[in-house]
Amino acid sequence: MNPWIAKSVVLVGTVVMIAIRAPHGRRSRSVTVAKSHKTALETGLLVLAWVGFFVPLIWIASTVFSFAEYPLRVGPLVAGVTCFVIGLWLFHRSHTDLGMNWSITLEVRDQHRLITRGVYRQIRHPMYSALFLYSLGHALVVPNWVAGPSNVIAFAVLFAFRVRAEERMMVDEFGAEYAAYSARTKRLVPGVW
Ligand code: SAH
Repeated sequence: MNPWIAKSVVLVGTVVMIAIRAPHGRRSRSVTVAKSHKTALETGLLVLAWVGFFVPLIWIASTVFSFAEYPLRVGPLVAGVTCFVIGLWLFHRSHTDLGMNWSITLEVRDQHRLITRGVYRQIRHPMYSALFLYSLGHALVVPNWVAGPSNVIAFAVLFAFRVRAEERMMVDEFGAEYAAYSARTKRLVPGVW
């Protein structure tokens, strides 16, 4: 199959993702940060996530990764598009449910409220589930051994280092309320983990 099919899917996915995030990014800058838990490690993880995000775009725009190309097949393409669609839907829902409480890094905002409804009812990290699905979509859709997995590897590292620090921050802030929320929910997959 023509690799431009995969390139078009990635471009559309990227545009949709930016369109979902942009208004929240703008609004988030106007909400005062009450407590920042941003460490040097957290900055490094964000840089890594940006690299993972840009590598597929570099693959589209140049031939630097052409040594790692393999043929595009219909099965992985369809599975990848499905991951993109569900991932982007969940990305949108989790931003809407978090509202003013969202931030790109580990921060407690002024008048921060614990959200436990909507897509947060059964899992504590639906935005990270969405990003896993989205990055898995890249791994399936992009027929290149470097550009395909770059997103999922970068995000898995970010998640592995961040999730415990984020949950500690939430327990510090919300105490028993977050402990009870943790006890009745899973992290990423409803009813499983
Ligand atoms: N881990 C969550 C949120 C990611 S955004 C998810 O995957 O959906 C990261 C910020 O969201 C954190 O800095 C924290 O301040 C905030 N946050 C995380 N879970 C929250 C919740 N249940 N309610 C309110 N804010 C939350």
